[in-house]
Formats: sequence, structure tokens, C-alpha cells
Amino acid sequence: MTHSSQAPAPTAEAKGPGTGNAGWLARYTDAVMNTFGTPGRVLVRGRGAHVWDADGQEYIDLLAGIAVNCLGHAHPAIIRAVTEQLSELGHVSNFFTTPAQVGLAEELVRLTFPDRPAQDSRVFLANSGTEANEAAFKIARRHGGSRRPRVLALQDAFHGRTMGALALTHKAAYREPFEPLPGGVEFVPAGDIEALRTALGPDVAALVVEPIQGEAGVRELPAGYLEAARELTEAAGALLIIDEVQTGMGRTGAWMAHHLLAPGVVPDVVTLAKGLGGGIPIGAVVATGQAAALLEPGQHGTTFGGNPVACAAALAVIGTIRSQSLLERVQQLGSAWSRELAAVDGVDQVRGRGLLLGVGLEDWLPPAAEIAAALAARGFIVNAPRPDTIRLAPPFILSDDDARAFTTTLSEVLARAQSEKVGS
Ligand SMILES: *Cc1c(COP(=O)(O)O)cnc(C)c1O
Repeated sequence: MTHSSQAPAPTAEAKGPGTGNAGWLARYTDAVMNTFGTPGRVLVRGRGAHVWDADGQEYIDLLAGIAVNCLGHAHPAIIRAVTEQLSELGHVSNFFTTPAQVGLAEELVRLTFPDRPAQDSRVFLANSGTEANEAAFKIARRHGGSRRPRVLALQDAFHGRTMGALALTHKAAYREPFEPLPGGVEFVPAGDIEALRTALGPDVAALVVEPIQGEAGVRELPAGYLEAARELTEAAGALLIIDEVQTGMGRTGAWMAHHLLAPGVVPDVVTLAKGLGGGIPIGAVVATGQAAALLEPGQHGTTFGGNPVACAAALAVIGTIRSQSLLERVQQLGSAWSRELAAVDGVDQVRGRGLLLGVGLEDWLPPAAEIAAALAARGFIVNAPRPDTIRLAPPFILSDDDARAFTTTLSEVLARAQSEKVGS
């Protein structure tokens, strides 16, 4: 399927026997640990919202590296920022700082806590979402020390795969092979204010929440929950940590999802990653008030965190979102598209905000992973975080035509699934 008139010719590699998708995948299996299952395709090139695989097939990328490539692939602003920074100075260690690092920290303070005086907030730069949450966990441990040994997280939460972030992650299949995990974490039902009230007390250091649970199938916390969480944590003297790794940096049409879902709620700590670097690995912890000063010299560190090339990429992402009015674009396309998707036969509901959408499928349909595979065969990259949900997290620069092409193909794929079912 061809979505653009300038589709590139397959590369020489893609033409040779054994060096298309199948050849690379065989080599992958021999060389790469089997932590992800076998990848669906071997991708060799990307431009904007489109990618090409090693067989030369073109796809519209509606997953964007799981909410990462917010400006799409090969965006000139990121290429320019990374190239210029790398040509000037590529890495320095945290014995030193760089203008890119300082500039990014200042931007993140302003974007995360727009209504607080900037001098009340501080940033720790890391390389990924899980590392940002590790640092947030250490901040929680430092808050109240042994008097506050408990940390609350939500059922179905996903916060990452390293041991601390994993301790905050709910899914048994992810946790159990690695127990014992750091202790003190308890899970409360997502969205249940009374359960939270009961669980909170003077021995709780922090509550960690995702405003929209992405890996759990794009499930938004109910209205009023974040407000109640802020009020109750404050009353108990506990920190409120909001994990915006997937939802932050414009993904929902606001810089932070909690700005949109609960304006007026000011958390103590926000974690960021995924879209922050537009495809260059970077994570961040942004803290305000006393939480911003809990980590003291020597208590935490990272070799690569705050690397100037990654910071330059993040600054380019922020600058482009601003100059191209992409928050407005995300809101406008997201709301129009979710209405269109909700009208497709077989779609039960569309959850989420902006360009983080969970398309809930009616229960008579085949598992969402099969639907996702059928969509891939027709040139659309999506994923299935749950057996009844297709997740869409495309680049913010996705065109109306590409979005519409997906809606049409989805309705064809679901209609075919229905007729096959009827025919069987
Ligand atoms: C993806 C994700 C993480 C983990 O980020 P990594 O960069 O994969 O370590 C943490 N929290 C949330 C909410 C996420 O979606």
C-alpha cells in the first residue's frame, strides 16, 4: 500500500535474499535476547508519520514508538538540534553542566508548574521513564524516612521495569519473577477515593499515579480523583507523584495531562520521558516545594542523564510544539478523530485524550492483537495493550488524510472480522 507519492525504492539490503524482514528477523532471534517476543517488522526508514520496512512496505505509524516520536520521524528541528550539539560538544559527565542542560531544566520547570514561582522547582535529568520513576521513588523514601515506610500506587499501574519502578507496577507477570522487590508498596484500586482515604496515613511517604493509565488500555482516572488525591495526600503529609511519562509533553493536547484533567492540582513530583526527546532517550523528574530538595549531593546520579545532545533534542521538541501550535493540533485532531472512530461498527468506546486513544472493541470481535496484525498487513502500525483495546499514540504531525485512512481501514477490518465470524 502506498500512502505517499515519494515512497523510496527498497534499499539494496531489502532487495537481497535473506536481508528483507525475514532475514533480519532470523538474525535477530540469534543475537537479541527474547524479552519482547519476535518483532513484527524490521523498520529501515521513517519520514514524518510514515515508516518503511526491510521489504519496502510502507506504513502509517500510529504508535510513534509508543508515544515517543511526537514530531514524527526525521523531523528537521530534531536533526538540526542534535547535529549542532553533537558537533559542538557531545557529552561532559555531571562534573560539568552545559547550556542545553540548564536551558531544558528551566523549560521543564515552567511547563510543569506554570503557576508556581520558578525558584520553588528543580529538575533531575535521566535517560528513560523507568529511571525517572526510580528517582521519584528515592525522593519518596527521603520524605519522612523510616517514619513513612509506605508508598501507595494504583492497581493496573505501569511505571517501568527496573526494580524500584517495577515495585510500583501492578501486573503480577511483570513483578513476580523478580521478587523480592523494594518493599513498602501497596496498591489501591484506581479511581476509588474511599479506598485511598482508608489507605493514607501518617506512615505513607507518597502516592504515585498515572493520570491516564496507558499500558492498562488508556484508562483515564475518573473526574475528581486527582483533586481528591491531592487533598488527601496533603492532609496525610504524603507526596503526590504524577507519572506523566506517557501522557506528558503534549500527548493529550496539554503540556501535562493533569493540567487538562485536574486544573489547579499541583503535584509535588512529575516524571517525564517518552515524548520528551522526540525519539532521543531522555527522562526527567520535575519536583516542586520541599520535594525539590530531598535528594542531596551524593544521593543519586547517572552518567548519561542530562547529556547535552538529549537535552538539545528535548529543547527542539518543546520549541517545535510551541512554534507549530501542536498542542492545539493535538486537541483538534484528537477530538475529531475519536468521534469518527467511535462511530465505526464494532468499536465499543474510544477512551483517552488528544492523541493518546484507546479504541475499545466490542467483545464479539477477535482479540485486539489479531486486529492489530490485520491492520499492520494493511499498512498501519498500532498496538494492543489489552485483548479488547487498540492503542493509538501517533505523531502530533499526523495529517487528517492519514487519520481518515486509518478510520476507513479499521472499519473494513472490523467488518471483515464480523463476516468471517458469521461465515464460520
Ligand atoms: C513507558 C512508561 C514508563 C517506562 O518508561 P521507559 O522509558 O520504558 O522506562 C513509565 N511509566 C509510564 C506511565 C509509561 O507509560
